[in-house]
Amino acid sequence: MSSTDVSAKLFADAASVIPGGVNSPVRAFNSVGGTPRFITSAQGCWLTDADGNRYVDLVCSWGPMILGHAHPAVVEAVQRAAADGLSFGAPTPSESELAREIIDRVAPVERLRLVNSGTEATMSAIRLARGFTGRAKIVKFSGCYHGHSDALLADAGSGVATLGLPSSPGVTGAAAADTVVLPYNNVAALEDIFARFGDEIACVITEASPGNMGTVPPLPGFNAELRRITAAHGALLISDEVMTGFRVSRSGWYGLDPVDADLFTFGKVMSGGLPAAAFGGRAEVMGRLAPLGPVYQAGTLSGNPVAMAAGLATLRAADDAAYAALDANADRLVGLIGDALTEAGVAHQIPRAGNMFSVFFGDADPVTDFASAKATETWRFPAFFHGLLDAGIYPPPSAYECWFVSTALDDDAFGRIAEALPGAARAAVEARPA
Ligand SMILES: *Cc1c(COP(=O)(O)O)cnc(C)c1O
Repeated sequence: MSSTDVSAKLFADAASVIPGGVNSPVRAFNSVGGTPRFITSAQGCWLTDADGNRYVDLVCSWGPMILGHAHPAVVEAVQRAAADGLSFGAPTPSESELAREIIDRVAPVERLRLVNSGTEATMSAIRLARGFTGRAKIVKFSGCYHGHSDALLADAGSGVATLGLPSSPGVTGAAAADTVVLPYNNVAALEDIFARFGDEIACVITEASPGNMGTVPPLPGFNAELRRITAAHGALLISDEVMTGFRVSRSGWYGLDPVDADLFTFGKVMSGGLPAAAFGGRAEVMGRLAPLGPVYQAGTLSGNPVAMAAGLATLRAADDAAYAALDANADRLVGLIGDALTEAGVAHQIPRAGNMFSVFFGDADPVTDFASAKATETWRFPAFFHGLLDAGIYPPPSAYECWFVSTALDDDAFGRIAEALPGAARAAVEARPA
């Protein structure tokens, strides 16, 4: 195994100034153990850490880097925008250009508001849904993660799932009281809750295809059922495409499963690795936002010109050929992983949602919700993870996260992956429950 001394020292230093040494919990490697790698540079599909180790990146900053790192067109656009000034607190032309690019890709989105993070996008979409309907209750699904705003942390996926937190201290009962949490992929549970509280429910928020409890795609027709039931009761449907948007197709999950939600949320890919996100939808609903309407929402750095430049350059390079390359790379990677695990004799399933996927161990039933994800042999994952990491592959550091490919993966990278997999698969076989 290569040295990680410098990362270990940087982690200790970080922990003396930043809680847990990280600014987002999953980066701390809590669920897999070991030393988080401190990354100093990245190019294409390769990450370089502070010890000089190189890794094939299968996280891609949790999705955004579909073109790989430091893509020349994106870097150039960012440098040009930065040279013209970083922030003005006044409107800029590039905000409408990015909004137009998104509106052109996702048909039901007629108006778009730019914000700084996916958390803000979903939080604001919920406020707008409540303001529009005059109702208080919201429905979310167990294991879906919509960022860390109070009302949406109930039974969430991502780091909340990884750390096994029930929800979170600091979220008052009042903040979560109007949040109803239902099992994912379960139409009967939704019908039941709407039969009881139909005229009190402002909206249902769902990940377009969940990726924060691992990859757990909607069963065929599930999103359409959400649309039907919400419409029948005058509630809004919010499709959270922060992860899937502009990753799984030109039009995100909407391109694969065209269900007309009232509101959509975007983040990750749309800003190419800089902090920006958005929510948008029907003009009638979006028209209730300030300054047109009474629902307040604002941001000092919203629509930041440098972030807009990164997003525009990324989306303009994300053409049909790019999506075909992402799909082909995902097929090739899933093929290699599946073959290695089968060869080693370890039971597994690799659910797919377009070019996103995750790896669940054991011969449990197909994962369709958070409970079935938790019923898999997630205790095999840390050994598999470290087997890959030690061989120069950087997978997501949790069984409950997606793996993300970029267009930059090449034969060299796949060669490294193919070499690393047999050893990692054996480590997964030999793993024992904690
Ligand atoms: C990442 C994510 C968020 C939160 O976005 P941040 O930019 O981390 O606040 C919300 N929803 C989904 C589906 C996500 O994957």
